[in-house]
Amino acid sequence: MRSILLCEDETVIREFIVIHLRRSGFNVIEAATAEEALELYAEHKDSVRLAILDLMLPGMDGFELCRRLREQDAVMGILMLTARSQEQEKVKALKLGADDYVTKPFSPSELIARVEALERRVKNTDDTGYREELVSGSFALNLLERTLYRNGTAVELTQVEFQIMEFFLRHTDQTLSRTDILSRVWGADYYGEDQIVDVNIRRLRMKIEDDPSNPRHIITVWGSGYRWNP
Ligand code: CA
Repeated sequence: MRSILLCEDETVIREFIVIHLRRSGFNVIEAATAEEALELYAEHKDSVRLAILDLMLPGMDGFELCRRLREQDAVMGILMLTARSQEQEKVKALKLGADDYVTKPFSPSELIARVEALERRVKNTDDTGYREELVSGSFALNLLERTLYRNGTAVELTQVEFQIMEFFLRHTDQTLSRTDILSRVWGADYYGEDQIVDVNIRRLRMKIEDDPSNPRHIITVWGSGYRWNP
């Protein structure tokens, strides 16, 4: 059974989401507060690979919940629920480790499509069943361990960051457009904003660049996209 952690304080919305997730074959672990979500997560750690978190919660908010979950699991897929007016919040959520967000109000089919796309990505990252390592300069991406090493030291990545790194290291001689990265990492049917690519690139740079404001490895190619430089 595929388990998903859902944290939403509004009962009507939560029940609405639960119905649609169950219909799609998910085992839903429901929480009305972030505190409750953390307790339930601790109990179900081994089976939960996905989470849907509302941003505005009583007590601890969705940002902090996202940060704490990401701290415990770098690979888990995290989807945030935000209001239409919360543009800055979306960026903040992505910076804190969320993989994607859905804006309220959303249709059930939109939510399920996003959850399933996220699930495929988590699965791809989990089930990389071949022993392979992509090496470039001082970086080595171990596809079996799903770990990036820089000069032999592991760099903690989210699964989205891992997939972006994999995409770069498989195409070291090419400039990759935002659209290329979006469709490779988020799927061709993704209908969110390109901004999500930039946010993840920024986050990746913070982790792998000596000076993230003067990146030497992930180079911006103005008007085209990004290029890997070993
Ligand atoms: Ca709420």
